[in-house]
This record gives sequence, C-alpha cells and structure tokens, in this order.
Amino acid sequence: MSDGHAALDRLKMYVGGEWVEPAQGDYLETVDPFTARPWALVPRGSAADADRAVKAAHKAFKEGPWGRMHPSERARILYRFGELIEANADALAATEVRDNGRLLAEMRHQIRYIPNWYRYYAGLADKIEGVVHPCDKPALSFSRPEPLGVCVGIVPWNAPLLLLSLKAAPALAAGNTIIIKPAEHTSASALQLMTLVEDAGFPPGVFNVVTGFGKEIGEPLVTHPLVRHVGFTGSTATGAHLYSLAARDVKRVSLELGGKSPNIVFADADLDNAVRGVVGGIFGATGQTCIAGSRLLVQRSVHDRFLEKLIDFTRKARVGDPTNLETQIGPIANRMQYDKVLGYIDIAVSEGAELLYGGCRPELAECRDGFFIQPTIFSGVRNDMRIAREEVFGPVLSTIPFDDPEEAVAIANDSEFGLAAGVWTSDMQLAIRMSERLEAGSVWINTYRDISYTTPFGGYKKSGIGRENGVEGIREYLQTKAVWIST
Ligand code: NAD
Repeated sequence: MSDGHAALDRLKMYVGGEWVEPAQGDYLETVDPFTARPWALVPRGSAADADRAVKAAHKAFKEGPWGRMHPSERARILYRFGELIEANADALAATEVRDNGRLLAEMRHQIRYIPNWYRYYAGLADKIEGVVHPCDKPALSFSRPEPLGVCVGIVPWNAPLLLLSLKAAPALAAGNTIIIKPAEHTSASALQLMTLVEDAGFPPGVFNVVTGFGKEIGEPLVTHPLVRHVGFTGSTATGAHLYSLAARDVKRVSLELGGKSPNIVFADADLDNAVRGVVGGIFGATGQTCIAGSRLLVQRSVHDRFLEKLIDFTRKARVGDPTNLETQIGPIANRMQYDKVLGYIDIAVSEGAELLYGGCRPELAECRDGFFIQPTIFSGVRNDMRIAREEVFGPVLSTIPFDDPEEAVAIANDSEFGLAAGVWTSDMQLAIRMSERLEAGSVWINTYRDISYTTPFGGYKKSGIGRENGVEGIREYLQTKAVWIST
C-alpha cells in the first residue's frame, strides 16, 4: 500500500445488517484505472470475516424472519430493492466506473437494467410449486422445492453489480441467504449497494458483502461447512479450483467461466451490420467480457473487404476518459490485466500473426496515465496459436479465414471453451444449422452480446456449469424434498 493512504476513504463490509471493519484491521487500495491512482481503501477480509459473515447468514436463514416469511413478502422486498437501485443508478454507475474504468454511459444503462433481475425473480418467488406424484404404493407422495441455505457469490471485476445480481436475485427469491465477495480491485459498488438493503426491508444477515483477496477470504467462504451453494463467475482456472474445494463438502456449485468465442461472418451477411456487431463484441467493455467475440472467422471470399471495413470503423472509435459520455473505448480495469493484454499482443506477433491495427497505448494526451490499449486487430491467425486458444480478456481480435460452413464449425468448436458464438448471414436455414452445431451456451444470429434476465445464460465445456437467468436460474438455488404419507 502506498504512503498517503490516510487521506483515502476507508470502506466497511456489510455483515449481519451492520457495517464492520476487517477482523485483522487490514485494507487494500482500490485504484481508478483512468488516473492509475488509488481513491479508496477496501477492507482486506480474512477467514475470521468469512466465518462471521457465514454465521450471520446462517442465523438469518435458520432463525430470522426470512425463512418463515411468505414468498410473496420476500418478493415485495426484492421488488423494492430493484426500485431503490433504479433511483440510485447514476451514483452506483459513477462508483463502478471509478473502480473498473468501464464507460459511464454504458454503466448507467447497465445499472438501470439490473432492477429487472430483482423484479423478475420477485415475480417467480411465489410461483415455486411442488408436484403430487402418481405413486404406485399405498401412499400420497409429493415433492416440493426448498431453499439450500447459505449461498456464496464470488464475482469478477468487469461488471460487479450486474454479475452479483444474477446470483443474488434468484438465490434470495428462492428463500436462501447470501454473501457476496466482489473482486479485490472493484468492491466499492457492491458495498454501496448494501446501503439500500435496509430500506428495501431485508432482515439482517440475509444479504451480506465481504471484501478482500480470493485466497484470503474467498476460499474460507467456499470451504465453510455452513455454506451450501457456491456461485462463481471468473476465470476457468479459479473456477476449477473452487469446484474441487466445494466438492469436499459436496456443495452445490454454479460456474460462469471464461470464453474464446467465435464470431462467424459469412459472405452473404450484411457486412456493415456485421462490422458493428464484431466491433461491439470484442471492443465493447474494452474486450473485458467473458462473451467477447475474440475469434473472428470470416469467409475467404469477403475476408479482405470485411477487414478493410472493420479497420475503418475501428479507427473512428473514440478512446479516452470513461466518464466522458462521448467515449467509446475506455481503459483496461487494472495494471495486472493491462500487462497481461500487452503480453498477449507480443505473443501473437511472435507466433506470426499479422498486426493490422493497434497493438499499443494510444498516442493521446488523456490516455497518458491510465491503463489504455488501442483496439487491436490481427489477421493471418491459425486456430492452433495461443492467441486463438487462450482468453486474453482485452481488446484484441484474432482473424481466421474459412471457406465453407463445415470448416467454420470445425474451427469454432476447436476450443476448450464454449460460452458464446455469433453468426452473421442472410440465410436463415444456414443460421439455424449453425446454431445446432456450435458448441456454445449462447448463439447469436445477426446480433452479439445480448443478455436478458429472461433467457438462460451459461457455458458448454470449460466455460461453466449451470445456468443463470430465466426460470432455470432459480432452480440452481433450490433442492427437492419428497414427502410420503401412508394412505
Ligand atoms: P478471477 O478468477 O481471477 O477472479 C474472480 C473472482 O474470484 C474475484 O472475486 C477473485 O477475488 C476471486 N478469487 C480468485 N481466486 C480465488 C480463490 N482461490 N478462492 C476464492 N475466490 C477467488 O477472474 P477475474 O480475472 O477477476 O475475471 C476475469 C474472468 O472472469 C475471465 O476469465 C472472464 O471470462 C470471466 N467472466 C466470466 C463471466 C461469465 O458469465 N461466464 C462473466 C464475466 C467474467
């Protein structure tokens, strides 16, 4: 931690309905990626803080009013929480931008959309019904879904409030209690969100946020014996590790992990439309989304023409201050990620990929201090290169040519990931055939990066387990009890 942090705001964690300091009294700096300067101190939680939070959430589940509350009352609280988020959206967006450098305009829009998750799952809360079974024994047998207990949600830095809401809204609607652990670099918005919890009417201990490093407080949460569900969004390596830890106690787990998603452009596509989709898919959020369309597969007959259009369009993107509402591409969220992305650009060059655009810091005065990298386009990439196989999580696009749909499917599916895929064509039969054959949890046709609270989202292969959003999203947080009555 740098000198002079005494002047920075010292944030607190929210546990059991109270604002608490970390047990060991340690803090870590949270840095504004635009200025590269720290702006607040976040509690560096430890196993003792994890234990305190789990016990508070367990007490709220077992003894508090939450467990006994009629689901329609829980729904009213969730609904009210959504209204409060809407009323405070601009303030929450400003904090998120300061923490992760995402565009203010985009975050305002995103945070105004988040209340939909609380409203949607509020609507489902009192519609969770059981089943009477056609029993072959002299008995009445029925089953009913019940909550699991204490849930833990661990989220990354690219969209903290959105990603935590994808877990909290269904978990709470199902009657569980929850502890959220945001990423160490971006905890401030989740803590700010907790200022709305009491007004919404959540009883103490139902909704908690603890902060700090994954190893120091995340693992103690995951391994705590009173936790019954771990919902994780983050890298595949961390997800696989947490999966093995959760397995020791046979905990339920849902994992939303990394991707290397193909965006496939056929020659008959509306190429201008496809250019916009490809650019939004990889340079939106400065490439820091799990669904980034980082592999561009272009049919050979339009390859050169499409790349010309793509570069023209990319050149016009305004890079700079994320708080300026005109900016289209902001900085990378933190220094470590910045170094990692530059490292991948070097790797691509050394593997023989052709750098067509970008590749370094933009030569603009306002980009001098922050973690800026120009949108970067490579051509001549082969699918066996590291730049085509590993997740960069930055504004780096790898272009691979193909001749026919067979080859496109083969290249697209030749990946350990399977989160998303895009197809650009005016032939709807081809589009449907592609959607059947692509190994991905979401397939977008003539669009990209669409997500809704109504529609299941999740990964094939190493991109994850389980689904968030829609009715499937709440099933992750329920277990079935069968009851037999002798007749
Ligand atoms: P990360 O795996 O390093 O960290 C994610 C979270 O896990 C953070 O809160 C971190 O503190 C915590 N963590 C790290 N090590 C831990 C440990 N040992 N025990 C417990 N918690 C631990 O990921 P990141 O770099 O912050 O985020 C980028 C990754 O997230 C990318 O791979 C991206 O694809 C993925 N992501 C996936 C989705 C999705 O829905 N599939 C959405 C957004 C991001």
